[in-house]
Formats: sequence, C-alpha cells, structure tokens
Amino acid sequence: MDSLIDDVFAEIADGDEELRDLHRRLCLILPQAVIAIYADNGAIIESPLPLFTEKMLYECRSRVESTRVVSFFKLPDGRWLNGFRLADLQALLLFVIPDQSDSLSDDQGLGNLYFNTINLALLRCYHQEAVIENEQLSRRIEVVSSKQTQLLDDNHRQFLLIQEKEKEYAKKLESEIARQTKALREANARLEAASQMKSEFLANMSHELRTPMNAIIGFSGLLSETSLTPEQREFTETISKASSSLLVLINDILDLAKIEAGKLDLDLVPFQLAGLVKSVEAMFRSQARDKKNALAFHIDEALPPSLVGDENRLRQILVNLVGNSMKFTEKGKVEIRVEQVKAGAATVGLRFAVVDSGIGIAPDRQRAIFEKFTQADGSTTRKYGGTGLGLAITSQLVDLMGGKIDIESSPGKGSTFSFNISLKKSDKKADTVKDEAAPAERAEDARPEPKEAPGKADLHVLIVEDNLVNQRLATLLLKKSGCSSDVAADGLKALDKVKENFYDFVLMDVQMPNMDGHAATRKIREIEASAEKDDYVCFSGRKKGVYVVGLTAHARKEDEQKCYEAGMDDFLTKPIVKDKLLALIEKMRSLKI
Ligand code: ADP
Repeated sequence: MDSLIDDVFAEIADGDEELRDLHRRLCLILPQAVIAIYADNGAIIESPLPLFTEKMLYECRSRVESTRVVSFFKLPDGRWLNGFRLADLQALLLFVIPDQSDSLSDDQGLGNLYFNTINLALLRCYHQEAVIENEQLSRRIEVVSSKQTQLLDDNHRQFLLIQEKEKEYAKKLESEIARQTKALREANARLEAASQMKSEFLANMSHELRTPMNAIIGFSGLLSETSLTPEQREFTETISKASSSLLVLINDILDLAKIEAGKLDLDLVPFQLAGLVKSVEAMFRSQARDKKNALAFHIDEALPPSLVGDENRLRQILVNLVGNSMKFTEKGKVEIRVEQVKAGAATVGLRFAVVDSGIGIAPDRQRAIFEKFTQADGSTTRKYGGTGLGLAITSQLVDLMGGKIDIESSPGKGSTFSFNISLKKSDKKADTVKDEAAPAERAEDARPEPKEAPGKADLHVLIVEDNLVNQRLATLLLKKSGCSSDVAADGLKALDKVKENFYDFVLMDVQMPNMDGHAATRKIREIEASAEKDDYVCFSGRKKGVYVVGLTAHARKEDEQKCYEAGMDDFLTKPIVKDKLLALIEKMRSLKI
C-alpha cells in the first residue's frame, strides 16, 4: 500500500519536474515572453511572478490590450491544443511582448504559430543539447580513450619495466649461481687437493714410520739370535714386543686415516674360508693356552669352501675381534662361528660371529666402544691397555664390505660381536686358490727353520737401498739365510752393478735419491729389450730378465701396482718381515733349480 502511494507521489513529482524542465527550455527559446505553469488545481508550479492566478490573468488580458496571451494544454494523448480549461491538465501561460506578436491576427493562427515555433525551438534546443551532449560525450570519450591510451602505455611501460627487472634478476641469479658454482668447484678442488695431500702425507708417514720400525724389529730379531745373557735377552724381548705393538698401532692409525680419506680399496681375490678361520685360530692358540681359554671355531658345512673377497681385511676384522675376546676373557671360552644365512646362485650370505664368555660390556657403553679412541670404561686402559681404535677400524671395514657390525653383551656373562656380509662364490678349485693366494706361506711351511749361513752362498743378491741401517739389516738377513749380496745406494749405481755383475735377484727400494726404484727398473727392462744389452756381459747372456723385487715402506695397493707397472716381478713391504724374505729366498732357490 505504502509503495503504491510512494509511486503516485513519485509520478506527481516527476510530472512537475517535467513541466519545470519544459518551462526552463521555453524560457530559453522565448526570452521575451513571460511564462507561467499552473497545476490542474490552479496552484502555480513555475512562474516568474508570485501568485499569478486565473483571475489575474483575465485582468491582465483586459488591461493590457497589446499583449497576446496563448495557453496550451497538454492532453493525456500527448497532443497540444490552444484553449483555456483550467479544470484539465496543467496550464501553460505565455505573455508575449507586442513587437513579436504584431503580425499575428487571431488566436487560432497565433496558437498554431506559437505551437510550431515552440516545437521548432524545442527541436533546436534538443538538437543544441544533443550537440553539446555529443561534444561532451566525444570529449569524455576522448578523455577516456586518452586515459585508456595512457593506461595502456603505463601498462606497457610497467610490463617492459617488469620484463627488464626480470631479465636483470635472471642475470643476477645466473651470475650468483655461476659465482656459487665456481666457489663450490674451487672448494671442491681445494678439498680434493687437501685429500690428495692427506693421502700423500699418509704415504710418506707410512714410509717414515715403517723405515725405522724396519730397523728396530729387524735388528732386535737379529740380536735375539745371538748369544746373550739372560738380562740382555729380556731386554731384546722387551724391545721386540714393544716395537711389534708400536707397529700394530702405526698400522691401525694409518688404516683409519686411509679409510677416512676413502683411500682404502678392497682387494677381491679368491680365498679359502676354512684356511682363513684356521689361520686366525692358530694365531691365538698359545695366548688361549696362557689364559686358560678354550678356543674353538665352527664353519657351517653348507658354505662353499672357496669364496671371493678381501681375505687380508677379513682376517684383520677377525683378528681384532678374537684379540679383544681373548683380552677380556679368562678361564672361559672364545669361539669363531661362520654360518650361511642366504644362498644365491653366485653369492652367499655369511654371518661371522666371535663369541666369548668374558667380562661383557654394560648396555650403555655398547654403542660408544665403536667410536675412535673409546673404551668401555676408564679402568680398561689401566688394566688391559689398548687404544680404542680396533673396533672403530673393524666396524668401518665391515661397512666397506657392505655389512654392519652388531653386539650382544651382558656384563659378567660375555659378548658376541657379529656381522653379515655377502661374498661371491669362487669357481676356482680349492687347491689352485691356495697356491695362488699364499705362495709365501706355502714356501714357509715347507722350509726348515734356517740356521746360520750354509757353507757357500748359493744366491747372489743386489740390495738397492739408500738408508744405511736398512742396507745393513738386509745384508745381515741375507747373509743369515745363506745369500751373498752387494749394495747400491741408488738407482743409478744399481744400473752399473746390474751391468757388471750377475744377480739372482735385486731387492729394489723405491724412494731413493738420483734415480728411484721405478726408474731404475724401467731402465733395466729397456736395456733388456734393446740391442744395447749386448754391450754388457751380464745382460747379453741372459735368457730371462733380472728378477726385481720392489721393496718399499708404501704399503698401499696403488704402490704395489706402480711397482708392477715399472716392470718389477715381486713386491715386499717394509719393515722386512724375516719370514717373508726367507719365503722369497726359498722361491728364488726353487726357480734356480
Ligand atoms: P682396544 O681394545 O684397543 O681398547 P677396541 O676398539 O678394540 O680398542 O675396543 C674398545 C673397547 O671395547 C675395549 O677397550 C673394551 O672396553 C671394549 N671391548 C671390546 N671387545 C670386548 C669384549 N670382547 N669384551 C669386553 N669388552 C670389550
């Protein structure tokens, strides 16, 4: 209901507004006319004169003769008529000043004329307004389009700016990446160089440490074979024991450094599983007797006898574990167990375990003992000695073999150290493998214990060595084994000796001044292969080349490889282990026959 009334009022308001608008326009077209608009109830809607009523209009008409008055009515159908009926719609009054109305004769003609004039003027006015609006619109369009152009320009500039910034950013990013990559490369190169230096240092340390150890162990061994007073014997034995444990420590530290530098490579060769376990057991037999420990081993019968792996490193692991068990067990039992846990076509999974009934390890120390230089508790070193390196090396070696060392232990009851690894089966026959894997041991087994030099020397050896102590040691060892020898202090002197004398073999040190062992051996091989050999008596008559045995404190695999590449036939590491040298001599004797 309310909205209906509102609508009606709105219509009325609209109607009034429309008339006012008309009035405004007419005022513009006919500036000399007095224009008033009345509502149908007689109220004035728009007028220049206040209270300009119907009565006043008549009075006005009669009083002012010359004034023409025309009224128009807007009918509901929209047409305009001249006439005067106030009861109808709103009225429009026009008072026209005389000058302009002179030519108009009657009301009808006058009305029509005004009607047409007004319509024409209105049209003009509408046209004028339309033109103005159009102009305004055009201006607005212009403004909008210029704004749009400006916006587009702005957008484009913004886009170019962003593009430029993006390019700049990408450039910066690229150069930053390049800078960081360069820095990383340099850091990497530095690390590599440092690692290289570390391994060089290791190699040198190995040389520097083993060379004097060579002398200490060798000479104390030789000394103990001379006639000594009981006191002197005790002293030499102490020197031997101390130097042997020092050598173990040096080897441990070098091993650890090598593992940490990633320089320790496994040497995968066929080996005998039973031979390996038995050799470890044999090493501890006398210690087991001393400590009243039962020492046993068990090898799963399902396991193939011959496998491929790094026998020496496996031995090192087992020796560490059995050594610990033996150390921490008294009047008990130590057992090495090897079981098959998985059998494939080409590989087998093995579980190695060293079980003891010793003092055990507290649960909260069982992880720590695998750290470097760590023992189960403070009293261990005081009571048992040791450095805490063995298990760190052992677990890293097991890691290298693709396994993981495990421990089960209860204090007072004992410990079990175990690890699982998988090894390839070897298709070689067991005996062949033994022949290839351990010629030195085999020779040693067959050889009777050497006594003093047997009458006349049957092998003539050239010792090429710059270190005087080592020259002396090698000379003595060879003499005691029944060999005669010459000494050359470097590679150049060795070449002269080899040209002039016949040697059954040459013990060739590698690191020497003037000409090193590799260069000397290469030169010897060159001479042997050339016509030059006929210039020398001792080369011309030879069917085979001179047997050269590399002798170096560098115990790394690549050092061994370098010796063979230089043309050497055999390789021995320093310190010269007497048994190894004797085995070599046996081998040379057998070759001579
Ligand atoms: P080291 O034996 O030279 O001290 P290891 O790394 O081989 O170094 O051993 C670290 C520690 O672990 C030993 O000191 C000892 O406390 C403990 N441990 C190792 N094996 C055993 C074992 N079988 N029984 C008891 N304690 C052991």
